Amino acid sequence: MLFSKSFIPILKNNPSEAVIKSHKLMLRTGMIKQSSAGIYSWLPLGFKIMKKIEKIVRDEQDKIGAQELLMPTIQSSEIWKESGRYEDYGEEMLRIKDRQNREMLYGPTNEELITDIFRTSVKSYKSLPQLLYHIQWKFRDELRPRFGIMRCREFYMKDAYSFDITDDEAKFSYNKFFLSYLRTFKRLELSAIPMAADTGPIGGNLSHEFIILADTGESKIYTDKRIFEVNSDNTKVNKESLIDLRKDFEKYYAVTDEKYDKKIFEKEVPEEFRLKTKGIEVGHIFYFGDKYSQAMKASVDYQGKKEFVRMGSYGVGVSRLVGAIIEAKYNENDEIMKWPISIAPYECAIIPFIDKKNNTNLEKSKKVYDHLLKEGIEVILDDTDENFSSKIKKFNLIGIPFQIMIGNKTEENSFEFKELNENTQNISLEKIIKIIKNKKK
Ligand code: ATP
Ligand code: MG
Repeated sequence: MLFSKSFIPILKNNPSEAVIKSHKLMLRTGMIKQSSAGIYSWLPLGFKIMKKIEKIVRDEQDKIGAQELLMPTIQSSEIWKESGRYEDYGEEMLRIKDRQNREMLYGPTNEELITDIFRTSVKSYKSLPQLLYHIQWKFRDELRPRFGIMRCREFYMKDAYSFDITDDEAKFSYNKFFLSYLRTFKRLELSAIPMAADTGPIGGNLSHEFIILADTGESKIYTDKRIFEVNSDNTKVNKESLIDLRKDFEKYYAVTDEKYDKKIFEKEVPEEFRLKTKGIEVGHIFYFGDKYSQAMKASVDYQGKKEFVRMGSYGVGVSRLVGAIIEAKYNENDEIMKWPISIAPYECAIIPFIDKKNNTNLEKSKKVYDHLLKEGIEVILDDTDENFSSKIKKFNLIGIPFQIMIGNKTEENSFEFKELNENTQNISLEKIIKIIKNKKK
């Protein structure tokens, strides 16, 4: 991509309406544009990042054997009346009437719709377990939409649903998702801690929220600090290790606000390990047994009778993750953002010093650009005649992890090259390519 042809509407200063750093940076670098309260357009830079996050989320769902489908955003009120949630959900649900005067709604979540799909298609326990997911826009008419895409009204979510025959097997499916979440957040270079959570309107009694520590987060958490040392690098997937998967975490007290009990906290956590702080919820998993299957009569044939299936649901805020990663990685004082290479909008930026009278540097840059493209590296070349230091500032904000600077002193095959937050080195193009490719592995 040539910067002159890109659609990256950068602002000179931080926008005054934003209070947290992710919101500021996303507006400043033209990642999003608000269209109405809590509703945003995703501009090319932001959209590229979100799509890459989505790919990682999808990949980790596929790896545990979940199958992707796509349900619509607009749902009929009928199934919500069956489950009893049509009234319960309250004003967060956006309700619509079609031209036949039928009550429709913009889905805030999909337990009802997936249960309806399941019950008409699956008849025998032999088809279980079923793990199904989709990645789709949701709408919740939040009372106080704020912080940009962190708490908005229309947002992009991965939601998965599991169907099993017994409680034990259902908890096994729960652990598979627990594992896939540990792996997903790790690939995004986030340290997200699973905390015991309340189940709210979804129902049930087993639930974890995956939380990233951040002062700007809206979730209050109470935890034993030792949970941060639990090794989440669990790559084993045999039955035994999955059954025990949560044990290491559950040794330590770690809960969200609604579950907090001062007495238990003080009894279970020695004073030096107590931490009360705030975080951002990036994922939430629930086990709720036969709550929906009973209400909606989703059963299968098992041992000569009809048995209601046991269900769980598993959400990741794909769009919220973009903001959460900025909260975790953006150094607001130095104005340097660095995206993990796996989700960076571009992997490398070429930043030439451009002299209006002489275009040798631009020509040198174009050669490097073509070469990197041929090597399969995603690259952006700043071919504008903006001055060099503001170009550098701009790319520090955009957060592309590698930069190649090209000036009058650049020799034949020795380039000023740096990884953000590291020292500059003078090296050949071959070495640059090797470094970038290594990082991508
Ligand atoms: P919160 O407690 O933040 O309101 P929730 O418990 O209502 O979230 P879930 O129903 O568990 O959310 O949805 C799954 C995921 O979707 C959340 O973990 C979060 O990452 C994301 N999410 C939920 N609400 C919003 C929102 N208003 N804007 C952006 N992302 C959201
Ligand atoms: Mg929640």
